Amino acid sequence: MDLEKEIREMYAAGGISEPVLRLGEEVLSSLEPRFERIDRIAEYNQMKVLSAFRKNRVGEMHFQATTGYGYNDSGRDTLERVYADTFHTEDALVRMQIACGTHALNLALSAVLRPGDELLSPVGKPYDTLEEVIGIRPSLGSLAEFGITYAQVDLKPDGSFDYEAIRNAIRPNTRLATIQRSKGYASRPTLSPAKIGELIAFLKSCKPDILCMVDNCYGEFVDVTEPSDYGADMVVGSLIKNPGGGLAPAGGYICGTRECVEMAARRLTSPGLGREVGANLGTIPAFYQGFFMAPTVTAGAEKGAIFAASLYERLGFRVHPAGSAERFDIIQAIDLKKPEYLKAFCLGIQAAAPVDSFVTPEPWAMPGYMDEVIMAAGAFVQGSSIELSADGPLRDPYTVFFQGGLTWYHAKFGILMSLQKLVDAGFSLC
Ligand SMILES: *Cc1c(COP(=O)(O)O)cnc(C)c1O
Repeated sequence: MDLEKEIREMYAAGGISEPVLRLGEEVLSSLEPRFERIDRIAEYNQMKVLSAFRKNRVGEMHFQATTGYGYNDSGRDTLERVYADTFHTEDALVRMQIACGTHALNLALSAVLRPGDELLSPVGKPYDTLEEVIGIRPSLGSLAEFGITYAQVDLKPDGSFDYEAIRNAIRPNTRLATIQRSKGYASRPTLSPAKIGELIAFLKSCKPDILCMVDNCYGEFVDVTEPSDYGADMVVGSLIKNPGGGLAPAGGYICGTRECVEMAARRLTSPGLGREVGANLGTIPAFYQGFFMAPTVTAGAEKGAIFAASLYERLGFRVHPAGSAERFDIIQAIDLKKPEYLKAFCLGIQAAAPVDSFVTPEPWAMPGYMDEVIMAAGAFVQGSSIELSADGPLRDPYTVFFQGGLTWYHAKFGILMSLQKLVDAGFSLC
């Protein structure tokens, strides 16, 4: 059997035209050395996770469902030890009761901030959904309503930290600095854990008691270190992104110092109860298994991001980061320039999905976001963006934010399909 020919025929049957496939293969052949390095990072991170499992003697008894209060849930408590050991933190809170990434971030912020405190973002405007959490856009229940003020220092035009302005922005009541690792819906570069470490060291040199929280969404396992290796007091993220490995059905985590995690636990449940309550309702095996898979799944998603960047860059689109740039998250942004292309891209991702491949994504006013957003997600877990997904606000330059892929092969097919749909919408390959 001629395997190469069989594969070409599979793609043809899947709806990929010959010129799109040929271009894809050509771009891919140049990426081999990079993919090799990603595999080595995944290998390192697999060992890191596995040692935490073995050190904590994860056993079959930890997979039991608990209900009601969830007292003495050793599966839950041990999973939190596994997270803490992987992130090299004193403690961790890993819960299905944390509904999503925004909830985890809101929890971390509202756990440690008190009326009169100031929150500082030294890396520019935070992720869209945090605007209402903080009260940048007035919102019922925001931190602003509780008397917590907010200051922001933008990155310099070249993406570097504005140390002078940061020093000037730190006031006696600046209690916590929020540092977003990933670019989110902005066009700035993503910050490496080491770069974040430099910022943390600077912040603490200006004000030793300032707490540093890192929004680690989409960054986990892309590098061999995490921001917690560089002095972050809390690292926070979503389990329907990288660390859930595509298997966790919901949830969020906060890894950090014993004191911060204790405050977060008390805020999540109640003072006096803290981490002692919170039944797992049978979700716990998926949390373990997902975390175990996460390094490999993240590597596949990163390959997809690099492939998409390299392919679309070749076709003359502006991409962030560039195809050849070093990566610290799994998000790829592509300026598609026209609303039709943004919709076509999302249609392609959707059409390539294992679930809901027959659905046409339409723009909608999503809660927490300012512009209409179009999203493609044919996911096993609703809204899971470690699964192959694409989304973008309908505003100039019609940037699509693309991420995920539980397997590299699926990511590859999705990207080829996105380009196919652009071609079908009138985009010319040459
Ligand atoms: C996804 C994301 C969030 C919010 O997570 P949700 O799970 O969508 O609430 C926050 N910050 C960043 C950088 C993200 O990528």
